[in-house]
Amino acid sequence: MLVAGLYMNNPEKVKLVADSALSNYEWTVKELGVEYNPDAIGQEGGHSVPRYVFTKNGSGSGIVSKELEKVAKLGVKVETRTYVEHVIRDEKGAVLGLQIRKGYRFPKAGSGRVQFIRAKKGVVLCYGGFSRDVAYRTMQDPKLAANLDSTNQPGATAELWRETSRIGCAQVQNDWIQCTPWNNPKEKGMGIGWTFSQSGAAEYGLWVSTSGKRFVNELANRKVRADAIMVEHTNGFKAVAICTAANLKAFKEARPGMLEKLLEGGMMKQYKSLKDIAADWKIPADQLAKTVDEFNKAVKAKNDPLFGRYINNEQVPLEGDAWYACEMSPKVHHCMGGLVTDMQCRVLDVVDNKPVKGLYAAGESTSGVHGAVRLGSCAILDCLVNGRIAGQSAAKAL
Ligand SMILES: Cc1cc2nc3c(=O)[nH]c(=O)nc-3n(C[C@H](O)[C@H](O)[C@H](O)COP(=O)(O)OP(=O)(O)OC[C@H]3O[C@@H](n4cnc5c(N)ncnc54)[C@H](O)[C@@H]3O)c2cc1C
Repeated sequence: MLVAGLYMNNPEKVKLVADSALSNYEWTVKELGVEYNPDAIGQEGGHSVPRYVFTKNGSGSGIVSKELEKVAKLGVKVETRTYVEHVIRDEKGAVLGLQIRKGYRFPKAGSGRVQFIRAKKGVVLCYGGFSRDVAYRTMQDPKLAANLDSTNQPGATAELWRETSRIGCAQVQNDWIQCTPWNNPKEKGMGIGWTFSQSGAAEYGLWVSTSGKRFVNELANRKVRADAIMVEHTNGFKAVAICTAANLKAFKEARPGMLEKLLEGGMMKQYKSLKDIAADWKIPADQLAKTVDEFNKAVKAKNDPLFGRYINNEQVPLEGDAWYACEMSPKVHHCMGGLVTDMQCRVLDVVDNKPVKGLYAAGESTSGVHGAVRLGSCAILDCLVNGRIAGQSAAKAL
């Protein structure tokens, strides 16, 4: 996490999240009843070895639905259609509560009735990132313009980023905004095409541009890979993920039916030969054959001299008469910066660096854990570890 984060992370927070990974995983299993797919250990970009697990339903909803069941059992009422407009601080700076709009209808600003909620112990902010907010994200990073799609839901907007600035909360690194490298431009939002580009082609196949050459370590962190694709685009090439049937064993086992779904949906195509891929994507066939040849030598030697890519033990040379390919294009995905919090998840005041009384935060609205680049699979862990700490701190009104 520190290497990918360019050491811009808070090292204490990184250590806490890493040390708490196993206990929090076990907490979700034992306390919430979350079901994972423990036989399918994947490798996301920037990780040195395969080490992530995913839920049985393949989505974060496998955790969130169990959290909702748990809070219902505890008698906690979850209020939806409630828009937070203002966080109210008193004259001494302590947070008193919130101004909300009850009955809010997204995205109608001004809809719903204004109400005030007085906090008995404190307010925990967990308003997420702003990847869908083009005005705010281009203010931070002008190249993330409206032409770039986002993987996030439409409500990933920045009103509370602006509000917490207004009330004097410290924020850092808001311009470190992550793009995914592997999304499929044929789909809107996150889609499902990325599963092949990452869990198939990046782990067991290869990525080429329509120049016919590899252009990046397919398992580098997301920033390195997304930036490399943007360079290929600037040079007039497309980025193509390629894999063979023999190398999709793990992918098929981990995500049954996905390959067929991608083919039926037209996100990906099947080919009989590498030559067919070259013809379809207008890639120079000789160059593509040379690239695959060199990569196959790297697979046999378990050493990738070109990019130092990790070669999985299950990887076999790319050959045969069943090939798959699809296009990839970056989308705006994750905000690494945000509110500055201490180890108890108390939000710090920008003027004196001291905790704002009654204000806590966790998740993507905060900074510190990921630095320059968030590693795949580490956001949910960050949310779990720091979300629980923020809740415990608020309950004790620290
Ligand atoms: C498609 C996708 C796939 C991902 N997959 C993974 C993965 O496999 N592993 C991993 O570790 N991470 C993954 N991530 C990242 C991870 O899911 C997020 O970082 C994490 O869910 C953030 O949680 P959060 O609670 O901080 O914020 P969110 O889940 O974004 O929740 C914040 C909520 O607050 C709401 N909100 C914002 N402003 C207001 C307001 N003014 N009033 C009321 N509500 C407001 C938002 O609409 C949102 O519903 C993925 C992200 C995406 C988009």
